[in-house]
Amino acid sequence: MICYLCAEIIPQEEPFYNDHDKHVCKPCFSEARRCFVCRFPGRDLQPVPGLGDECEFCRGKLVAEGMDPAPLVPPLRVFLQNYRMNPPPGEDVQWSDWRTLRDMQTDADLAPPEFIDDFLRYAYPVLYRGGSYFLLKRMTRQTFVVYMVAQLAVADISTRYGLPDLSERSPFHTFARGWCHWLAYEAAAKLGFDLERRQLRKWPELGGMGEFERWRRMADLNKPSRLLEFFNSSLGPLARKWL
Ligand SMILES: [Zn+2]
Ligand SMILES: [Zn+2]
Repeated sequence: MICYLCAEIIPQEEPFYNDHDKHVCKPCFSEARRCFVCRFPGRDLQPVPGLGDECEFCRGKLVAEGMDPAPLVPPLRVFLQNYRMNPPPGEDVQWSDWRTLRDMQTDADLAPPEFIDDFLRYAYPVLYRGGSYFLLKRMTRQTFVVYMVAQLAVADISTRYGLPDLSERSPFHTFARGWCHWLAYEAAAKLGFDLERRQLRKWPELGGMGEFERWRRMADLNKPSRLLEFFNSSLGPLARKWL
């Protein structure tokens, strides 16, 4: 086995890093800068301002600043229609650096993210607010898809009640936000996106996912139709009480 970075032979018994069908020796790995999204210590890492380094394997393959993600959205709207969710038409997209996007979601004093997982732990990489979708500058298609499902649902509920977003912490907001997060979790299951599903199960911390855990437990015992019924019968009364 040859190291992708130093081109030396990696001795049989030595540990190595392996991704993108490449092997990297331990000494190179411990020295190298690494890709923000995939963590690979590439040969041609280029910094993306407001994000981190991007490797040659991710470049051109991600949902990235400047592209139009609209073609990815119609199937997500179809999925949401099964749950009687009808997000307003159109997707105004605002590409955002990690700090702006995280500051929109939490006041907590947190370290800068080294990799995208450090970001996802505390914040959504897609955030609906005031008619726009704020997007982290780079993410995989799978990441975009699952978080966009949640935020399309947020857009629907926000629009129905004339709210800019669902970021407040009232029982109405945490109930609705948990439902939106659960829809993303469901979408990840249906699509076989296991990594994203595991991430959605535990992140974002600091209350971003609302009452997701309650929805998840309910889904273990009830059919989706029963959950939908509960959502629809509870949302109006919660809105009257808390908005
Ligand atoms: Zn090496
Ligand atoms: Zn990469």
